[in-house]
Amino acid sequence: MDRNRIKKLAGDPRFISGIHNYCDRWCERCPLTHRCLNYLLSEEEFADPETRDLENEKFWEKLGEVLSDTVEMLHEMAEEAGIDLDAVDATESLKERKNRRKIAENRPAVRSARAYGKMVNQWFDMANILLKEKETELLEKARLELPNIDPAGEAADITDATEIIRWYQYQIYVKLMRAFQGKEDEAEDPEFWKEFPKDSDGSAKVSLIGIDRSIAAWDRLRGHFPEQESELLNILRHLDRLRKKVEKEFPEARSFIRPGLDNPEEYGEGEA
Ligand code: SF4
Repeated sequence: MDRNRIKKLAGDPRFISGIHNYCDRWCERCPLTHRCLNYLLSEEEFADPETRDLENEKFWEKLGEVLSDTVEMLHEMAEEAGIDLDAVDATESLKERKNRRKIAENRPAVRSARAYGKMVNQWFDMANILLKEKETELLEKARLELPNIDPAGEAADITDATEIIRWYQYQIYVKLMRAFQGKEDEAEDPEFWKEFPKDSDGSAKVSLIGIDRSIAAWDRLRGHFPEQESELLNILRHLDRLRKKVEKEFPEARSFIRPGLDNPEEYGEGEA
């Protein structure tokens, strides 16, 4: 990792500053990879397929290397800004972090998001046979080449809805945790945060986007599995209640502008 090059790239207008802070990390589906420095660096650093495999030692070696370079870079930046990192009481701030984490974990919305993650696993475990039966049914329909039906399209729709649900399954919780912890941090200096968009709102927005997309995906599955109506409605009701809780806790979240993703035209891009 060439630290000087990174510093230079960070000032390159090609990249949208902070874009990766409020995205959903689904780079394969991101329309702005070419504007994201984080994406470029990850692709470069983890170009070797072995470094992308969590089971492989090279992945952990690479991760350690990147982390240690990042820490060094942070120290350099702090020094340039005249901040003495050694003066920070690490034990105290770690204790405070843990405390805030505990408080966040017990928020009703966070508990509900955690419960949702489990509900998803329970449904997929239970629906395993159902999904296999659906696969057999669609293969049979494709073989018969029946008119006016589209088994390939149906299979693609189920796969896509499933991928969306799985992608956001835990992210909703993770982003909500960050939102609530951020809210605590911001409460320490409300005057300062009056001037800036709040990180907690940005994180809550990402969580809300995950909830919205998951609701739409579950609704699509309802169409494919009418025999699961009651189970799927139960999940949808849970997500809807969660959405309302998050909106109540973070009333400004929906209007938070995520750099690049919510205002692509300001960066000369089409709709993100
Ligand atoms: S902004 Fe897009 S490319 Fe960058 S990390 Fe997020 S999803 Fe990936």
